[in-house]
Amino acid sequence: MKKTKLGLNSRIIHGGQIQEKGYGAVMPPVYFTSTYSQKKPGEHLGYEYSRSGNPTRTALESLMANIESGKYGFAFSSGMAAIDAVIKTLNPGDEVVATNDLYGGTYRLFKELFSKYNVTFHFISFESIENVRKHINKKTKLIWVETPTNPMIRIIDIKKIASLTNEHKILFAVDNTFASPYLQRPLEMGADIVMHSATKFLAGHSDVILGALITNNETIANKIKFIQNASGAIPGPMDSYLTLRGIKTLHIRMQRHCENAKKIANFLNSHPKVSNVFWPGLKDHPAHLVAKKQMSDYGSMMSFKLKDESLSKAFKTVSRMRVFTLAESLGGVESLVGHPASMTHASIPKNKRIKNGVSDGLIRLSVGIEEASDLISDLDNAIK
Ligand SMILES: *Cc1c(COP(=O)(O)O)cnc(C)c1O
Repeated sequence: MKKTKLGLNSRIIHGGQIQEKGYGAVMPPVYFTSTYSQKKPGEHLGYEYSRSGNPTRTALESLMANIESGKYGFAFSSGMAAIDAVIKTLNPGDEVVATNDLYGGTYRLFKELFSKYNVTFHFISFESIENVRKHINKKTKLIWVETPTNPMIRIIDIKKIASLTNEHKILFAVDNTFASPYLQRPLEMGADIVMHSATKFLAGHSDVILGALITNNETIANKIKFIQNASGAIPGPMDSYLTLRGIKTLHIRMQRHCENAKKIANFLNSHPKVSNVFWPGLKDHPAHLVAKKQMSDYGSMMSFKLKDESLSKAFKTVSRMRVFTLAESLGGVESLVGHPASMTHASIPKNKRIKNGVSDGLIRLSVGIEEASDLISDLDNAIK
């Protein structure tokens, strides 16, 4: 059976299958082994040492590549380790242009770690393509974007950026964590590298930390494979298995995530105490039409502001919720609420944070797959 010919919903189920020859197990076994026996030096069944490769990890890597429409997939011990590997493909003196509306940990890694190695990062608004073009020079080697962005849920036009990076021969990487390949596949739109914090929607059950890189470019794949093995930030077989298992229900989870998000966005949007709702499915979202074009639905990440934008009001609101859990992270089956200014985005300097819209009053939701009516009454009680 040629797996790539199947529809996405089938590939989500069958894409990571390996032939288990021993007993015909339907799920790939969890290969808890650090090493593999060799008949003669160098003569083995495909694996030598589990940092370089492990069959459970291979099953996951091929599944993630398959559903992102990529040829090569690599799993890492966390999303951050995956991003770290991409930047390690660069050289001192190189420059990167990134969205200013970025996951806090990514900003910290770029700014506080890789700046030391003389890689320069420009954090800019991607809302106008001219602004992006202005920051490209001869040293620019990579454009790094998230879309939807975190936590302002802005949308970046992937095809437009891809034509710009093509023109200038620079790499284009998309952190696809918020959308998941169910909603959006950047490689199909011209991106060179897709990155995931599989910790979120891919694994989907808030029980594992794992990262991924997917590409169709053999040169990039070889560099990433080298770094994955040389630096060694690989996930263990159990985490690979949990992620593989989680992905098998990605499509049905995402459907419910999106359905619930739509109901909640509409509820918040008509609530008298709410001033702004940031969700790309709303017609008044500035990039609603771009989202409609490049995503198959609008996702379940949203942020909102109350009319009373004080820190104390925001703290009270998030602490009163009972069905939404106040916690970092996103993308699990359970609904989470977060306060970006003091949680996920606390590592970004206050003036930068506020300039990007992350005010003290901003509240972020990761809408789960519970009963929508329970989520709505929870929000209603908390906002009062
Ligand atoms: C969580 C997250 C990361 C980091 O991933 P980890 O798995 O926590 O290391 C990167 N980007 C985005 C958009 C995230 O939400």
